[in-house]
Amino acid sequence: MIYDSLMIHYGELSTKGDNRRLFVNQLTHNVRLALRRFPGTEAWGGRDHLYVSLKGQNPEPIIARLQEVSGIQKISLVAKVEPTEDALKEAVLALLKEEKGSTFKIDVKRADKSFPIHSYELTCLLADHILDHSSWTVDLHHFDARIKIDIRQEGAYLSCHDYPGLGGYPLGMNGKVMMLLSGGIDSPVATFELIRRGIKVETIHFASPPYTQMAVIDKLKDLLKDLNDYQPSFKLNIIPFTKLQEAIYAHVSEPYCITIMRRMMLRIAVEVAKKEGCQALATGESVGQVASQTLESMQVINEVTNFPILRPLATSDKVRIIDTAKRIGTYEISIRPYEDCCTIFKPKRPKTKPQLEDCYYYESQFDWKSLVDECVNSYTSLYLKNGEELLKEGQ
Ligand code: ATP
Ligand code: MG
Repeated sequence: MIYDSLMIHYGELSTKGDNRRLFVNQLTHNVRLALRRFPGTEAWGGRDHLYVSLKGQNPEPIIARLQEVSGIQKISLVAKVEPTEDALKEAVLALLKEEKGSTFKIDVKRADKSFPIHSYELTCLLADHILDHSSWTVDLHHFDARIKIDIRQEGAYLSCHDYPGLGGYPLGMNGKVMMLLSGGIDSPVATFELIRRGIKVETIHFASPPYTQMAVIDKLKDLLKDLNDYQPSFKLNIIPFTKLQEAIYAHVSEPYCITIMRRMMLRIAVEVAKKEGCQALATGESVGQVASQTLESMQVINEVTNFPILRPLATSDKVRIIDTAKRIGTYEISIRPYEDCCTIFKPKRPKTKPQLEDCYYYESQFDWKSLVDECVNSYTSLYLKNGEELLKEGQ
């Protein structure tokens, strides 16, 4: 095989200045981590691209792995040769030997302006060479093989095949959030969208045993192990929510239970997020999907905090969310039957337009503050790394 490297094209090309350097450094680090299971491969970052040398290994599983790394726009399978006319002539013929079809097109980019032959001239020269030495013919519109040639100072890169990447930013470049993870379809997809944006995700779950079962925790672990493809390690914080939830149902009129419960969840999540060094919360909410996700509800629920809350799926359709869930592998896990604290206590007539005064009234009926403190001070944490559960962080 003539191909010996991969050329990685950076996502979000508008990234400039200092951010560009951070971007390249973080992506290089993440790519090296992702390629640990392919010993021998080497990755290094340049200004315009990042390169991976294959060291004779099959490129397919390596490309598939890189397609799970955020911050990559596109991956090209490339052959690196000396930037000379003779080497290029030999390489284009060798490249076409591995292609199927009969028509080709050449595109030359000359990043190294000191290269003596101009792009158009080089294109003609190489095309003539192919016509003279093979049965391939030129077709600029309906070609079977498009040979891209990138002339750089350190070498000439030839490629025929590109593979799409995840896009977005390198993980870890845009801070850390605390994601409210429920075990449904939406929150794992929201988690994936945050990771794609370069945001590291830590998770929090409100559990209400014995009303909710341990099976929910197993489901969350499976979801996070699956998402380890995109973020190598997760922390899952589990909040013992039963006492507070029972107090809510004892003191709050039924249509307001979900609103008050969500206000409590936010209060707790903000404190845990601060403790864990997160700069924002995130949820899988989508506007209009259910009673607690109308803008009126969100306003009343959000009133408990001015801590930022990201909602990556706010405007996504369910069909699109399900598509993404299937693509990233969380769908089959999410649809396993389970009881969430929201489903168990689901009121028959939840308020779609709750009033703040009513919330204040219900919250004045019981000592929720000490129950919230108890939750914030007594949660347990699990760690999932590379598809395995760890006993403690960082193992
Ligand atoms: P999902 O598919 O993520 O469960 P959903 O459409 O079922 O979302 P809701 O149950 O109304 O919607 O929850 C909205 C959001 O609130 C969830 O996406 C999640 O971020 C958060 N959430 C709900 N229940 C819990 C829970 N028990 N623990 C942590 N977060 C929760
Ligand atoms: Mg849910």
